[in-house]
Amino acid sequence: MERTFAIIKPDAVKAGKAGQILARIASAGFTVRAMRLQHLSRREAEGFYAVHAARPFFGELTDFMSSGPCVLLCLEAPGAILKWRDTMGATDPAKAAEGTLRRDFGTSIGNNATHGSDAPETAAFELGYFFRGMEL
Ligand code: ATP
Ligand code: MG
Repeated sequence: MERTFAIIKPDAVKAGKAGQILARIASAGFTVRAMRLQHLSRREAEGFYAVHAARPFFGELTDFMSSGPCVLLCLEAPGAILKWRDTMGATDPAKAAEGTLRRDFGTSIGNNATHGSDAPETAAFELGYFFRGMEL
């Protein structure tokens, strides 16, 4: 079993799509191990995306991630990290494969509906950033 960290981003929550995305998470075979609705502060979003601090889109990204509540999730499945990346699809919804969450719920590369950890080390950092041991 493996765990990964996922976010239903503010665009999807605002559009009322969180329920549909959670249903897709369940039907894809993930078990939800922890879940919380949280409106991130600008500083919390900056800390989370610190690896992107030098990127030109960092301001836009952290504005967006702190623009409304997110659903924060710990998902568990065999090979959860890659499996969740596959379920989400490519970063840019216009390039995401048919049947993926970003294709169905994302509207632009910035407003792309979901986040997923990209490696075991980032999953460990991201789960620890948002969830206490007791919650997991
Ligand atoms: P995430 O980390 O959110 O799961 P990702 O791993 O597919 O997405 P990253 O390269 O880590 O992609 O980029 C983080 C986020 O920054 C993307 O999800 C996207 O919302 C935003 N982003 C990436 N590239 C751009 C860009 N060129 N312009 C605007 N926003 C971007
Ligand atoms: Mg990423």
